[in-house]
Amino acid sequence: MKRRIAILGSTGSIGKQALDVISRHPELFCAEVLTANSNSTLLIKQAIEHNVNSVVIADESKYQEVFKALDPYGIKVFTGNASVSALACGSNIDMVLTAMVGFSGLEPTISAIKAGKAVALANKETLVAAGSIVMKLAKERGTPIIPVDSEHSAIFQCLQGERASIEKIILTASGGPFLSKTKEEIETATVKEALNHPKWLMGPKVTIDSASMMNKGLEMIEAHWLFGIEPSKIEIVVHPQSIIHSMVQFSDGSVTAQLSIPDMRLPIQYALSYPYRVDLNTKRIDFPVLESLNFYKPDFEKFPCLSIAYSAIERGGNIPCAMNAANEIAVESFLAGEIPFTNIPDIILEVINSTTYVKEPSIEDIFETDKKARLAATLILTQYKAPTY
Ligand code: MG
Repeated sequence: MKRRIAILGSTGSIGKQALDVISRHPELFCAEVLTANSNSTLLIKQAIEHNVNSVVIADESKYQEVFKALDPYGIKVFTGNASVSALACGSNIDMVLTAMVGFSGLEPTISAIKAGKAVALANKETLVAAGSIVMKLAKERGTPIIPVDSEHSAIFQCLQGERASIEKIILTASGGPFLSKTKEEIETATVKEALNHPKWLMGPKVTIDSASMMNKGLEMIEAHWLFGIEPSKIEIVVHPQSIIHSMVQFSDGSVTAQLSIPDMRLPIQYALSYPYRVDLNTKRIDFPVLESLNFYKPDFEKFPCLSIAYSAIERGGNIPCAMNAANEIAVESFLAGEIPFTNIPDIILEVINSTTYVKEPSIEDIFETDKKARLAATLILTQYKAPTY
């Protein structure tokens, strides 16, 4: 039986690589539903190539264009965010790959879990914003959530067959493009410099998050929810070669690790094929050529987003949600060239400080917090963007 997959966010980096994995294993997988925000040209191409059942173009102004292109092929075309959730829950879907960027992934992920669809989770912001709600719901419904993020896939792979208790998770970080830059160099970093990731080719949001190391903060929170481990037992270690994708330390002192040449298709494919492991034509590790693997403590002073993330999850409640929303707005503004790189943590802190704390947020509280935090961040931004005379 083929696994029938809905890819939410098919035109992004993860979505494109997922389709590559699917096309290499037509006997195992088929793409049934594709959704995209606004890249109509690529969505049309993908839909025809994979002969999918239906697509959603979230941007309503692109609906006619997509409809005209795909209707002759008998491919159904929908628009709007409500359609994304509806199609992900269809009876023709076995697994939903959530590969959209940011908070927008939350609603369809919840719908997919409620409908009992296995979720391949590539949208870390979903767990950062609403981890307690999403994990509780998945447990109640017995819905598997399989991580796609390379670090979490590594941890997940390390835990297969284990009955032991986890002592510690060692979350590895490449360190991003600013690892060896000074504080002053980071202050004046350009968008181009921040987008120049040394190891991974990813979308702009996650690449900027890597440069600020907020990505690792988000991933620490994601790991906390996925594996039920206290934040104090998740250690972030800089490993510039990105060969070890994360490790698990057990109570007998053993550490297991997952190693591979960086290639996102591996964790994507593992999530799609789980519990099976299937062939993939990635480059193989040549250990004598590799010679050495290095590890360093992260610099919390140079990368304040790390401390922000730890203290946000330690406070818990709706604070990580506010942090995430503020980060999304700040990153967008940096990408637009409106603020310097080092304003990103400043804005996040200000938004967190202005957030009304809710200890045990409902899903409505989460949406409300997200909305308010975005507004607060936008307001703060107008001050940062104001010219100084
Ligand atoms: Mg990652």
